[in-house]
Formats: sequence, structure tokens, C-alpha cells
Amino acid sequence: MSEPIDVRDRDLYAPEQLPVAAPYRADIEGVVLPRGEIEDRVAALADEIATHYADGSAGIHALCVLKGAMRFFTDLLDRLETPHPISEGAIRASRYGMDTSGGEAEIEFLQPEAIAGKDVLVIEDIVDEGHTLQAILDEIQAMRPNSVEVAVLLDKPARRVTEIDARFRGFVIPDEFVVGYGLDYAEQYRDLRHLAVLDPSIYGD
Ligand code: 5GP
Ligand code: MG
Repeated sequence: MSEPIDVRDRDLYAPEQLPVAAPYRADIEGVVLPRGEIEDRVAALADEIATHYADGSAGIHALCVLKGAMRFFTDLLDRLETPHPISEGAIRASRYGMDTSGGEAEIEFLQPEAIAGKDVLVIEDIVDEGHTLQAILDEIQAMRPNSVEVAVLLDKPARRVTEIDARFRGFVIPDEFVVGYGLDYAEQYRDLRHLAVLDPSIYGD
């Protein structure tokens, strides 16, 4: 199992150094993770996940936490080769509405019956305070899975308040509000290729 790549002390790439869609160039402070680096790390995580389940599985149920994790989920499963059948499910979880301040986590399972007896792999975009993932894991445990593991692309440990044990982690990032590669602000920027720090003027700091 590899350690996540820690980019907290790294300088941001200027938007003009990378192919950033024109309408977004003025809205971001800079790029934290270029798309190519994300994709290579996701491929490495897929290999680690395949190795983890190589010795046997009751059947893997891959759970996408909508909507932020959609691109991570798709790219990860695209690279994941295991000898076990994989079913796919989704959870809707939200703490952030139109602004960036936290609230209670609301969770909705789209296929709750698919969890019992399975090796559940929760695929989440980012862990910040940890409330969302904790609420998801508590609800899954109550549904009697065979096992539960977490794959999270981004770890923002600065404001963590719950103890989260994610076995597969992509990157450790600084305490900034990030968008792109599926992560949004008010449903925008999900289609930005790279992971970028949003300019605080956008959300009115
Ligand atoms: P937590 O409950 O861990 O504080 O919040 C996790 C959820 O908040 C994530 O699943 C994500 O939806 C949202 N979130 C936390 N930090 C960020 C961020 O930097 N950018 C975006 N777009 N969403 C975030
Ligand atoms: Mg999320």
C-alpha cells in the first residue's frame, strides 16, 4: 500500500501554463494537480485495489459518492482488473449547498439492497472534516456488508474532526477550496480537466 502523494508544499501551476478552458482561466488561482498526474495516480490506486482483493472476494460492490467522485470512479473502475465480479452503485451525499461552508451530511442510497454480504469499496472525491465519509460508513455498516474499504482521491487533513481510515488515498492537498476533475462549486467547474484552487473572490471571501 503506497502513501498518498503529498502536494501541500508545492507551488501552484499558473493557469496559462496548462490547457485550462478559457472561461475558467480567470476564476482559478492556479492548478494543484494537472490531469496527467491525477490519471497516473488513479492507475496506481487501481493496481493496489486489485492486489488487495486478489486473495478472494464475496463480490465487490463499488459505490460512487455522487456527484464529485464521478470522474474518479469512472477512471478507477476503468483501470481496475480483478478476478471478481464488480457491481456498481451510487450514494448521494451532500454537505455543501451553494456555498463552501459545511452542514449536516445528508445521505441517500440508490441501491441499498446491493450492500449486504458484499465487499464494499466506497469511492469518494475528497475528505475534509470527515463528517460526510463517517456518516456514509456508519450507514453502510448497518447494512451488513462483508467488508468496507474506502478509496479517496484527495485528503485535506487540516480541518479533520473525525478519525477516517481510508485504505486507498491519492493525494494530500492543502486547506484550499478546490474544483475540477468532478469537484464543483455551485455545479460549475466539474468539467475543468485539472484540480485547481478556486479564486476566493468567486465564493465571496
Ligand atoms: P467533509 O464532511 O469531509 O468536511 O466534507 C466532504 C465533502 O465536502 C466532500 O465530499 C465534498 O463534496 C465537499 N468538499 C470538501 N472540501 C471541498 C473542496 O475543497 N472542494 C469541493 N468542491 N468540495 C469539497
Ligand atoms: Mg464528495
